[in-house]
Amino acid sequence: MEIRIKGLIRNYYSEGKQIKALDKVDLTIPANEIFTLLGPSGCGKTTLLRCVVGLENPDGGEIMIGDQLVWSSEKKIFVPPEKRGLGMVFQTYAIWPHMTVFDNVAYPLQTRKLPKEQIRSKVRKVLGFVQLDGFEGRPATKLSGGQQQRVALARALVAEPKVILFDEPLSNLDAKLREDTRKELRRFLSELKITAVYVTHDRIEALALSDHIAVMRAGRIVEIGSPKKIYFNSDHRFVADFIGRANLIKGKVIREEGNHAVFDSAIGQIVGLNSQKIAPGQEAMLCIRPEFMKLATTEVGEGKNVFCGKLETLVFIGEAYEGEVRIGDTLLTTTIEPTEDITEGDEIYISFDPDHCFLLPV
Ligand code: ATP
Repeated sequence: MEIRIKGLIRNYYSEGKQIKALDKVDLTIPANEIFTLLGPSGCGKTTLLRCVVGLENPDGGEIMIGDQLVWSSEKKIFVPPEKRGLGMVFQTYAIWPHMTVFDNVAYPLQTRKLPKEQIRSKVRKVLGFVQLDGFEGRPATKLSGGQQQRVALARALVAEPKVILFDEPLSNLDAKLREDTRKELRRFLSELKITAVYVTHDRIEALALSDHIAVMRAGRIVEIGSPKKIYFNSDHRFVADFIGRANLIKGKVIREEGNHAVFDSAIGQIVGLNSQKIAPGQEAMLCIRPEFMKLATTEVGEGKNVFCGKLETLVFIGEAYEGEVRIGDTLLTTTIEPTEDITEGDEIYISFDPDHCFLLPV
């Protein structure tokens, strides 16, 4: 089910000051996709999710879920949360510790007074789906964090919602479990084919899970795109910097070359993607990600985007080295193969493909 949000406003007041938690948000969340709201702490992600659920009343704007207008300040419409057909999974698992796994999952159906046999069959089916068959009689507290989160997911799914909303559901799990649960969640949601709205400030989680990501900042949507679009060729400096490690180099566009532009910077001329058609003479910023820099200890020829520098720092992080290369006054971060035989202080050549770096407006 599609969700359409128009001109959504939510203001808070604290110590006499107005906080624009949502500042005229327009957003369409496509049906049957995993759609992530990503952004730094305090940018309004949770407020937006709570407005969609109906736990928060906006100060202006409209929210449509499918064909149903669930909120309109102008038309004075407010559909209560239980009538919006949504499921929700929170950061804290919010499962009831005094109940068994079965009772936790059955609860939404029991409140609807469904026949017992129907409840039993629906709960079994959904527990099978989240791979918790055989856990029905287990007290909820005697489960691991990942299993508890799966109980919360099963409870949200049992009522067969059209839309499921997640508010940082994995942030209480340790790193390894978070990775495993993330993969499982992706599989569950892809199989279910329902609309999933996912809130996180974790960029890796957003990249790994989402069909589309909306990056938010200070109550506004800055950019919406697929994970690859946002990572490889985003339209905004804030997004490029937030979504991954980025070297941002200042300079000026000299000339256009098809989809690319030649760019003059402190390290020399660079050729990069120019999707936004920044015109010659304009200041711009070039974004190059550390993993796209190739390294050589001997001269690599006269190709495009080849620079000579000095390896200033080298840190071993397991799967790779992280190095800093100085070219004049510019310090660039680069990822280096763990097998590379180099040391700090070495003169090295770095190069990168014009398709692997992109220009951004300043
Ligand atoms: P986080 O990732 O830290 O959870 P968030 O992006 O979800 O952050 P929100 O919780 O939506 O951000 O908050 C948006 C802004 O509104 C923040 O500046 C926050 O301090 C403010 N805010 C949220 N709830 C209230 C409240 N009840 N009273 C006053 N200010 C609030």
